[in-house]
Amino acid sequence: MIYQPQKYKIEDKAMAPFIDPNEIWDYINGFKNPSTERVLEVIDRALNKNRLTLEETAVLVNTTDPALIEAIKDGARKLKEQVYGRRIVLFAPLYIGNYCTNNCAYCGFRTSNKDQLRVTLNKEEIVKEVETLEDAGHKRLILVFGEHPEYSAKFIAESVCTVYGVKKGFGEIRRVNINAAPFDVEGFMTIKEAGIGTYQVFQETYHPETYLEVHQGGKKRDYDWRLTALDRAQEAGIDDVGIGTLLGLYDWRFEILGLVRHVNHFEAVYNVGPHTISFPRIKKASGYAIDQKYAVSDADFTKLVAILRLAVPYTGLILTAREPSHVRDEVLQFGVSQIDGGTNIEMKGYSNRKPEQNLNAEQFEINDNRSLQEVMTELIEKEYIPSFCTACYRLNRTGEHFMEFSVPGFIKRFCQPNAMLTLAEYLEDYASDEIKTKGYRLILDNLEHYPDDAFKEKLIERLDLIKKGQRDLSF
Ligand code: SAM
Ligand code: SF4
Repeated sequence: MIYQPQKYKIEDKAMAPFIDPNEIWDYINGFKNPSTERVLEVIDRALNKNRLTLEETAVLVNTTDPALIEAIKDGARKLKEQVYGRRIVLFAPLYIGNYCTNNCAYCGFRTSNKDQLRVTLNKEEIVKEVETLEDAGHKRLILVFGEHPEYSAKFIAESVCTVYGVKKGFGEIRRVNINAAPFDVEGFMTIKEAGIGTYQVFQETYHPETYLEVHQGGKKRDYDWRLTALDRAQEAGIDDVGIGTLLGLYDWRFEILGLVRHVNHFEAVYNVGPHTISFPRIKKASGYAIDQKYAVSDADFTKLVAILRLAVPYTGLILTAREPSHVRDEVLQFGVSQIDGGTNIEMKGYSNRKPEQNLNAEQFEINDNRSLQEVMTELIEKEYIPSFCTACYRLNRTGEHFMEFSVPGFIKRFCQPNAMLTLAEYLEDYASDEIKTKGYRLILDNLEHYPDDAFKEKLIERLDLIKKGQRDLSF
């Protein structure tokens, strides 16, 4: 199936979503053993806020000299500090249903896995999960679904509305994102009307042959239908989209170039890149048997996150609880801008938390099962500002990821103050006395160095109002 957005004439290769595997390999093989000068030149281009080309990304993925890998990580660290500051956005995944008609070799939900306990949350069960998440302090969720006729666009839209309707105490979910199977344009329109934030579809692997090997049955076997999913989402008016690759299926260098090629396509056709990029590594799942040939080591993983940060400086990078906390700690410094916290991916697992993970009741194994409170404490102690901000989405400022990056002063005027305001809400409503003290100390430290006096006044006023009980006071 060839997808051609109606509005545009295909003028160059990037206008077409399709990826030529030979072309990607030509880049990887064509820029082997890059010189020190060339690697430093590419890092410099990224630090000057240029999105890297495929050729430049190939130079970085081919860098093996440890000193140059450190230079890549240093560059990413600098860029992250310059562009995003020390904010880390927090969210939680909520699995709504794990029935699935596909047979993805890596996933515990695959249809051939008869050991998996199948569940679809009804409205009352969704409410119960959301109340528990609100009680912990969450404001942003991503709803996750298997692919099944029961999970129609209408069903997903209804689930979203149910979530937005749950308000417990000060609790309120202000942004609902989706990770579900691709729809047609009409289906995406139905979901958009429910007021979603981002729609995520991961290509899993950009390598067509591998794609067919691991997607052994169901609609997901159609590589092109999946690759063009977010074009249809755009066509339906969903302009916040998230792409991703599942690391461990094929050579990670190929997948990184695949992601950058996908970004090029969005820029060429829609004039804006994706909102977020995800790059999960495959984890153990119920009964799964994945060849370890392409397993990505911690060393390659941390390197590739730094490369992504440099290659697509304006795109949010998401890391999930699939990764252990020591890996998270490292990549938070130089790449990642969003993480989940207090994650439980067992069906109905938030309201019914069990001491042990049960792979037959969840999609895969997670490696970070700390509570949101523990994650918040650690972030605060490391002087990151945990943020639950949803202001741009709620004020209709779409393309915020791009504005953060390209509009001078945007972060100073919006993102940073909003991060502090949402942190203050959390400290007032959900934190222990100890975290409250540490959190306010962090806010005060940040205020001390706040560069704009007039604006600082406004921010202090709002922080006082939050202490007095007002909520949702964003800029
Ligand atoms: N069923 C939808 C789909 O496949 O697009 C929703 C997504 S699935 C529930 C969420 C994502 O989890 C998948 O896109 C895949 O990248 C990831 N995933 C699946 N199995 C995994 C595993 N064993 N380890 C890590 N991530 C996995
Ligand atoms: Fe189903 Fe998605 Fe799992 Fe594939 S990855 S088996 S489509 S839930």
